[in-house]
Amino acid sequence: MTAVAVIGAGVGGLAAAARLAAAGHSVTVYERADTVGGKLARYSRDGFTFDTGPSLFTLPQVFEDLFAETGAKLTDHVELVPLDPIVRHRFPDGSTLDSCRDPHEFRDRIDAAFGPEAAEDWRRLWIRAERVWNASWRDVLRRPLDGPADLAGLAWHVRDLAAIAPGRTLRGLGHAHLRHENLRMLLDRYATYAGADPRRAPAALAAVPYAELAFGGWYLRGGLGRLADALLSHCLDLGVVVETGATVTRIEAVGGQVQAIRVRGTRGASHRVPVRTVVANVDALTLYRDLLPSPRRLAALTDRSLAGFVLLLGVRGNSGPAHHSVFFPRDYDAEFDAIFGDPGRGVPARPAADPAVFVTVADDPAARPDGHEAWFVLVNAPRHGTAMGAVDWRRPGLADAYADRILDLLAARGADVRDRLVFREVRTPADLQVSTQAPGGAIYGTANHTLLRPANRGPVHGLHLVGGSAHPGGGLPMVALSAQIAADQIIRG
Ligand SMILES: Cc1cc2nc3c(=O)[nH]c(=O)nc-3n(C[C@H](O)[C@H](O)[C@H](O)COP(=O)(O)OP(=O)(O)OC[C@H]3O[C@@H](n4cnc5c(N)ncnc54)[C@H](O)[C@@H]3O)c2cc1C
Repeated sequence: MTAVAVIGAGVGGLAAAARLAAAGHSVTVYERADTVGGKLARYSRDGFTFDTGPSLFTLPQVFEDLFAETGAKLTDHVELVPLDPIVRHRFPDGSTLDSCRDPHEFRDRIDAAFGPEAAEDWRRLWIRAERVWNASWRDVLRRPLDGPADLAGLAWHVRDLAAIAPGRTLRGLGHAHLRHENLRMLLDRYATYAGADPRRAPAALAAVPYAELAFGGWYLRGGLGRLADALLSHCLDLGVVVETGATVTRIEAVGGQVQAIRVRGTRGASHRVPVRTVVANVDALTLYRDLLPSPRRLAALTDRSLAGFVLLLGVRGNSGPAHHSVFFPRDYDAEFDAIFGDPGRGVPARPAADPAVFVTVADDPAARPDGHEAWFVLVNAPRHGTAMGAVDWRRPGLADAYADRILDLLAARGADVRDRLVFREVRTPADLQVSTQAPGGAIYGTANHTLLRPANRGPVHGLHLVGGSAHPGGGLPMVALSAQIAADQIIRG
């Protein structure tokens, strides 16, 4: 039985811990916060409860497999609620399109909203996206990718290669297949699921809408935070030891082999834990900058994901919005220009003046008092920092002024809640950095402008990476897959 230390109790850390414990390892999870879940967090106030991170649960089979392969049943822990619409898309020309799981029904909805040509375009794109998904699922998402050689060495079928179109961007794919501007915008948005700009993100991200629409979008009754509870209780059942308030400050390696970690408790006292196998669920940037300084690996991590600016709104009355709505702007490119800036040409990042606004309102009594609604409002935002490609979100007045701006935009787009507010709370990228240690509050670590993210195997023997900043990427299911890859590497030796 090998002793394994897991650094961080995000979804990736807990999923890896469960797999390793079920395989007979003795696992201790060290979490610096006093709760588990990381970005999968909740906030309660005045009878309202908000998921402050993920609001859409996709690819449930990944978590079903995780629980089943470790001796439990996901649905004994959480209740999955299918969503229709998965997302209500509201476009600047006043039209609306509800996405759903049934591809025929979705095409009918596109036909009704934008006409038969648009529906036929989507059908053709869908065939392509299915091929990309199948190839990604088979060859990329569930196996380690340790570098360009691995990617090049994949035995792609010629058909897969044609579909994946290395070198083409998601934007390019949209323009090649879709004539209707609104469908192009809808496709572009999926780049942001990887923290990326659609004009630079690879066309292979067409797998993202495929995954969402083919396997469905789900809510978890009581809130997505229930998944963190489920993972924790399952880990404890499997004998995992979870220490909260325990910050790992260093990984010691000698002769290319992990030897120990240094752990600091809440009172500041530090101790050394000898251990030869470590799973790091911290952001790869933190890992290679602070915990195990690795200049070469650090140098590769320049392309940071976008961050999120969040409003938590307690709202009086019931207006009955869709579970998820996205309100698109007139000029989507202006949003990406603002969020990423162009540091190479001296153009700083800035909050977008007119961003897409994503709103989640769960029709769930657990989320709000009677006669009220809990609104979670998210816009993509530059990461926090003082570099050209970031914004200093702590600048006095900025967060409140931007919150006002977002509420005004929502009002202009037909969702005015300004007179119904019981309270509003703001969470900037700087706040996410503090609460989860995500550098700059970047939601997905490295932006997916290539298919390559930090490998799951670290530079020294015994070190493995899981979580949204490592391969295969961010989002709950991807993070759980990273845990599967890393656990397999450890179990197989
Ligand atoms: C606003 C927002 C909306 C999102 N929406 C969705 C969505 O709708 N659907 C979806 O699937 N995904 C969504 N995501 C992404 C999803 O939340 C993340 O990809 C996922 O939760 C990340 O999990 P992780 O394993 O990388 O760990 P993280 O959540 O990053 O957790 C890492 C943990 O490590 C701990 N830690 C850090 N440093 C140390 C240290 N030195 N010692 C000990 N512990 C440490 C942290 O405290 C934290 O608990 C969203 C994220 C955000 C922020």
